[in-house]
Amino acid sequence: MSIPLRQKIAVAAYLVRQRLRGVEKFPLVLQLEPLYQCNLACAGCGKIQHPDDVLKQRLTVQQCIDAVEECGAPIVSIAGGEPLIHSQIHEIAAALVERKRFVYLCTNAIMMRRKLDLFRPSPYFAWSVHVDGLRERHDESVCRTGIFDKAVEAIREAKRRGFRVTTNSTFFGQDDARSIRAVLDFLNDELKVDMMQIAPGFAYERAPDQEHFLGVKRTREIFREAFAGGKRKHWRLNHSPLYLDFLEGKVDFACTAWGIPSYSVLGWQRPCYLMSDGAYAKSYRELIEETDWDRYGRGRHPKCDNCMAHCGYEPTAVLATMNSVKEMVRAAFAK
Ligand code: SF4
Ligand code: SF4
Repeated sequence: MSIPLRQKIAVAAYLVRQRLRGVEKFPLVLQLEPLYQCNLACAGCGKIQHPDDVLKQRLTVQQCIDAVEECGAPIVSIAGGEPLIHSQIHEIAAALVERKRFVYLCTNAIMMRRKLDLFRPSPYFAWSVHVDGLRERHDESVCRTGIFDKAVEAIREAKRRGFRVTTNSTFFGQDDARSIRAVLDFLNDELKVDMMQIAPGFAYERAPDQEHFLGVKRTREIFREAFAGGKRKHWRLNHSPLYLDFLEGKVDFACTAWGIPSYSVLGWQRPCYLMSDGAYAKSYRELIEETDWDRYGRGRHPKCDNCMAHCGYEPTAVLATMNSVKEMVRAAFAK
């Protein structure tokens, strides 16, 4: 069985179990941030501006296991910061794989090649390499020359060793349909990565570059143009068909931020990993029960106004898929 199919079946079974149990709010993906420190300083990043005492903090292996077990999400995306800086990151990944969670380890790939020996290929483990564009555009996005080449080299080596390798690409105001097509064609057809995740850059308040975030109108325009002519079906995109419809502006959704909760060195972040609004919750239960979820989403909260990010809208798309036989068939046959 292919890994995407294995994951789709596991997630579908999990969703059915939640429905049968009558659970109203449940996580699809846990966004786990075991540290905020990074070895890059990207212009669009809103994570590395924490004070030094926070940047020095690390989640322990046990804290990561406890967070995953408490919330029960079938998929865990380990992000940061740069997770490979954490000296026990391989132990964290192994512990979650052992518990049959689908683990995506996000990295800017600077340390990836030399840390590959610490990890084992598994159907439950995938790298998620940050690649925002082809060489010039990616290096501009991460504000350092040579990072694109490092990422490509690490991807090739990881694939050679039998790892599942996916990518995540964030697009900003400097991008257009042509640059999006160029990088996705390269990743899909030349590097042959397993799956690709895409995102319009979120307008972090603390990001150094405040001029180049895409608004909703521009996001819809560039994705509609980039996806035209059969490209969307050709690429192995790690999203539900309805979320891609949403990016193109063919459908609109409310935000379901509780579907992708975020746990970091500061606790459970409200309402989502992109935005912090109020005190962190001490437990997943407190996050779910004591957050006023109706306050969030476009049109409800000023910080949400330009957001079309997967952490709020992919869960809505997945839940809408579960409510429609037609959409379930479409999702089952998507790459
Ligand atoms: S690699 Fe990621 S965490 Fe590091 S600065 Fe860039 S966007 Fe932020
Ligand atoms: S719209 Fe949803 S996902 Fe986006 S910032 Fe607001 S709460 Fe977070």
